[in-house]
Amino acid sequence: MATQADHERFMRRAIELAYEAMESGKGRPFGAVVVRDNEIVAEGHNEVPHRMDITAHAETVTLGRATQALNSLDLSDCDIYVNGVPCPMCMTAIYWSKIRKLYYACPSADGVAAGFDDSVMYADLAKPLHERELPAEQVTAVLLRRLAGASGRGVEYGSTNRTGQGSRTRPTDDRFQAESESTGEFFRASDNSQKKSV
Ligand SMILES: [Zn+2]
Repeated sequence: MATQADHERFMRRAIELAYEAMESGKGRPFGAVVVRDNEIVAEGHNEVPHRMDITAHAETVTLGRATQALNSLDLSDCDIYVNGVPCPMCMTAIYWSKIRKLYYACPSADGVAAGFDDSVMYADLAKPLHERELPAEQVTAVLLRRLAGASGRGVEYGSTNRTGQGSRTRPTDDRFQAESESTGEFFRASDNSQKKSV
């Protein structure tokens, strides 16, 4: 059971890492620490400019190191300490990792004041997919037709898809038996070797 002194120790380290990111010029001022059984198992800071990688946030960097250090994709016995409330990408990565609890130092408002405003992203993500600022379009039906054509597995069959086109190639392979625009069967068939962690 972590004491207040433990929490402060881990958070202090996350803040130190945020300073390291800035002082080294490698990243923006965010640090993260993953803890298990009151011991730091991984730590890191933002490395976006250093790696020229938009996904190299403190949390994603550190979660990657934690899963590798523990050789497990399940961090449900770990906690994460960060100096700022995570952006939507990192928050989702934390969900994927099954981290037990998130500890943060600065509320979102502080991040906004410092020029790191992800509130627009959070608001957009709260909307249904096709109402968001980011345009999205389903191309799966076209992809499935192309896969079927390329593999020679497909057969023509009469059907009307969402765009009103009359005939399309339907694969005969059992993996592609999903009706309409649903890709559920496709994902289930393609995911046999690697079960999702959530
Ligand atoms: Zn992030």
